[in-house]
Amino acid sequence: MKISLLYIVLIALFLSGCGERTLTKNKEDNFKEAKTINQMNDTQKVNNPYYSNTDTGKLIVTDAEWKKILPDSIYRVGRGKETETAFTGKYWNTTGHGTYYCAVCGNALFRSDEKFGSTCGWPSFFETIRKNSVIYKEDTTFNMVRTEVLCGRCDSHLGHLFDDGPPPTGKRYCMNSIVLDFIPDESNNKK
Ligand code: FE
Repeated sequence: MKISLLYIVLIALFLSGCGERTLTKNKEDNFKEAKTINQMNDTQKVNNPYYSNTDTGKLIVTDAEWKKILPDSIYRVGRGKETETAFTGKYWNTTGHGTYYCAVCGNALFRSDEKFGSTCGWPSFFETIRKNSVIYKEDTTFNMVRTEVLCGRCDSHLGHLFDDGPPPTGKRYCMNSIVLDFIPDESNNKK
């Protein structure tokens, strides 16, 4: 009985399409951390000399330097390529109007009208804000062949690209909330 339960859990993990290393935290911990990160977003930007929502110039920064600058959870996903647990990230079901930026460097990645209500538990988009906002790399880890999506400015890991998205592109950019930074249109209009 125990073996068949384990088998079902393993199959469910595989079918999720993101069976890589996960941030080993429960929902409550992730929620607390999301709140903390929201509160520290502004501090993080001040302490991050590379953060810019307008500069699209390529960044060459070592992991050692990012480790000094970034909160641990952002570093582990963005630079360590870990994956947050499904349905625990802060943006998996958000619907507000605005822009999603790279939480590591501030590069604009997606508009909210490119986001769709995916059931996979991670924020999903069918298109990027501009062609070069992300770059792609073949990922053959965990006995799978997938397309890794990285920030076009800082090369940080954002998630993966799948071919099961909605029209007009048929693409699904399956992203980790922790490496996204959402700025609502209203707050930009106030500036
Ligand atoms: Fe970036």
